Amino acid sequence: MLQSQLFGKTRKEAPSDEVAKNAKLLIRAGYIDKLQAGVYTYLPLGFRVLKKIEAIIREEMDAAGGQEILMPSLHPKDNWETTGRWDSMDDLYKVQDSSGRENALGPTHEEVVVPLAKQFVFSYKDLPLALYQIQNKFRMELRAKSGILRGREFIMKDLYSFHRDEADLAAYYEKMKGVYKRVFERMGIGAVTHLTFASGGSFAKYSHEFQTVTPAGEDTIHVCTKCGIAINQEVVADQKACPECGSDELTQEKAIEVGNIFELKTKYSAPFNLTYKDEEGKDQPVIMGCYGIGLGRLMGTIVEVLADEKGIVWPEEVSPFQVHLIDLSGKNEELKKEVQDVYEKLSAAGVAVLFDDRDLRAGEKFADADLLGISMRAVVSEKSLAAGGVEVKYRAEQEGKIVSKEEFFKLFVR
Ligand code: ATP
Ligand code: MG
Repeated sequence: MLQSQLFGKTRKEAPSDEVAKNAKLLIRAGYIDKLQAGVYTYLPLGFRVLKKIEAIIREEMDAAGGQEILMPSLHPKDNWETTGRWDSMDDLYKVQDSSGRENALGPTHEEVVVPLAKQFVFSYKDLPLALYQIQNKFRMELRAKSGILRGREFIMKDLYSFHRDEADLAAYYEKMKGVYKRVFERMGIGAVTHLTFASGGSFAKYSHEFQTVTPAGEDTIHVCTKCGIAINQEVVADQKACPECGSDELTQEKAIEVGNIFELKTKYSAPFNLTYKDEEGKDQPVIMGCYGIGLGRLMGTIVEVLADEKGIVWPEEVSPFQVHLIDLSGKNEELKKEVQDVYEKLSAAGVAVLFDDRDLRAGEKFADADLLGISMRAVVSEKSLAAGGVEVKYRAEQEGKIVSKEEFFKLFVR
């Protein structure tokens, strides 16, 4: 992709009404655009990152036995009255059409997935079952000042699991802890993301959140210095020791919830009367779990945690391009040919490359490359050629190094 053709340009200043670091940087770098508070467009760069995040999550959910579906956003009021959440959920968007019919804009999908499961789950042979989707959610968030960390419209992966008994749910729930851990490790925030004990509501003692430590976080957690497990202060305030290893050496941190897992048990299957027939032909309630990850929030969190004073720093797995190739040839036609050749070879090999072909000074190009944060930068210049090839610099590292052209192309062989 030629950078001169890229839709969305870098900006010197962030809009004055943005206070969150993630939004400031993502807007300045041309990844997102704000339509209104808590509602953002993903521009080509931002959409590429989102797709990468989505692909990782999809891969892990499929591996965990999830079957992907896509449920609607427009939900009949009846379903929400069945669970009582039409009245109890403060942040529910309610819309009325010209015929007077009322709908909810889905903030979560138990009210759709449970009636759906009821159409296909009849016997113990139909269980266990795990359905998930990656889809837009709507919530009337009071505070929408955190950029893409807290949207009024945002993208969530929500998985719902259905089981014959609590033991089967417990086993799947444990498995999902590991799946979530791997998702956050692959996103480059594994080291600062903690499995956190939170209130479980009335159906389970605890639920679990995955909390990423960052000053931008709205939650306060207490992290066990021994085992790395954390406790959410707001919900389990009376817990003074680590629920996992018993240690009382805990450190207080600000954190953002990037995902959570919940044992719903019969909370939603009961109101919809979702049951199955066991081996004896007896009706039993279906036991459920739910598992969420906010994709935009995750993207914003990666920015908050990894960015430096020069701009965004993407981990390789979510970087919008594999390499940012910078043309510094200016009026040197021979050099221009060399750089073009590298670009064409990379493109022909299927490497996702952003080629800075713009007519700008070197300093401006480097500053933009730092702001954009693509995981690898490559420069072909008189200097690099004299030293034997291509200068490669990883965004997360301070120093670049010269490699031969041959070695350079080998970096992209998987
Ligand atoms: P919070 O306490 O931060 O409002 P929540 O408990 O309401 O989160 P869930 O309903 O469990 O969140 O949603 C699952 C996941 O969706 C969260 O872990 C988070 O990653 C994401 N999420 C929730 N609300 C938002 C939002 N307004 N904008 C972006 N992502 C969100
Ligand atoms: Mg919320």
